[in-house]
Amino acid sequence: MQARPRPKTPRRHFLGIARGRPRGYRYFDLLLKHLSGDLARVFDGRLTYPRQLEIHLPADHVRPCNFDCGHCQGRLLERTLAPYEPKALRLFDELEGRIPYHIFGGAYSEPLLNPLLPDFLELTKKQGSFFGIHTNGSLLTRLERERGFLTRLCRIATSPEDYLSVSLDAGRPASHRATKRPPADCFDEIIEGVRLAVRARGRRRRPSIRLCYLLNRTNGSEDELHDAIRLAEELRVDSLRFSIPYDLYGKGFDKVREYKARVEAPEHEHFSRLLARLLSGRRPGRPSVFYIPPDCQDVDRMRFRQCIYCYYQITIGADGFVYRCSSTATPSFKMNRLGELPARREDFERLIRTNEDPSFDPSSCFRAGARCNRMALEVNLEWADLSRPKEKG
Ligand code: SF4
Ligand code: SF4
Repeated sequence: MQARPRPKTPRRHFLGIARGRPRGYRYFDLLLKHLSGDLARVFDGRLTYPRQLEIHLPADHVRPCNFDCGHCQGRLLERTLAPYEPKALRLFDELEGRIPYHIFGGAYSEPLLNPLLPDFLELTKKQGSFFGIHTNGSLLTRLERERGFLTRLCRIATSPEDYLSVSLDAGRPASHRATKRPPADCFDEIIEGVRLAVRARGRRRRPSIRLCYLLNRTNGSEDELHDAIRLAEELRVDSLRFSIPYDLYGKGFDKVREYKARVEAPEHEHFSRLLARLLSGRRPGRPSVFYIPPDCQDVDRMRFRQCIYCYYQITIGADGFVYRCSSTATPSFKMNRLGELPARREDFERLIRTNEDPSFDPSSCFRAGARCNRMALEVNLEWADLSRPKEKG
């Protein structure tokens, strides 16, 4: 029988998974803070709103995204788009800021393609929540020129907790084209968009502006990594995060293990050596340049018996259903649907309660080809460690 988890944060806490990352990327710490340091709230039978609501907007209702990245997590999945926005806006109105963070991204959809994104952002801020946006960045310049999108975004941001995260994945136009497969070259336009965003926020430094860089052999020469870091410094963004792409969702663990041996292990060896001299480490100042190694996404660590990611987030999929987690928010993983998106708070609370289920078995995800993302893996591993019966003596 499992020992009951300790009610408060133990002094010796954490497996040290998050060492070397900026604060906003230490996921178990973030969860703990959300629970006011009180782990006894986990599975205590009472409703606890999760830290964040992830919203996968249904793009422009026609195409999920304007890019075709080889590493896109939606590649093997059903990518249904359902126009659910009016219902979600009504629900947002009723939530009245009960969920502190609203994160706009997608397993397979580009949020800036959705014309109602600014309305969602305005409502998020009006209700006192923070926003996060994950985008490929291709529309930033155009939306700023045509609708003043970035100016508006920076006007409503109230804190560096609000953020704009751009998946750059390249330091030069040629490798951007090869990695992201856009319909037309747009690397320079993305850089211009980031520049406009930094200019629009001015000295207030809010929202935070983050760049992400998935490494491969096309975009990963030493010279290009230097270029990317120089660019991040010159643009004056807050962070630049390097990592190795996950294997695609929708594959069995045996296939993912093959990818781990064929791609992740050698790429990690190569890039961790290459990046060692380039990362910020303990150096103060901006941008924070850091690397998340692939053991943070390792299938062989997905052996826990409970999932507490439900306290971290809940997700509205681009198909108009509410899902247990963002990495399973697709009709390909119907088993993780909690229900159709409701417009009323009481109905949404019922879905949150259903998600907070101590008997939910994570292996039901893994058997279906679904996997935890980095955040989920980290919080679930920490939880498994804390709730494991401790050896006597
Ligand atoms: S930009 Fe994002 S959503 Fe679009 S194809 Fe690439 S990974 Fe997928
Ligand atoms: S994939 Fe992981 S985070 Fe998502 S519901 Fe399953 S166990 Fe939880």
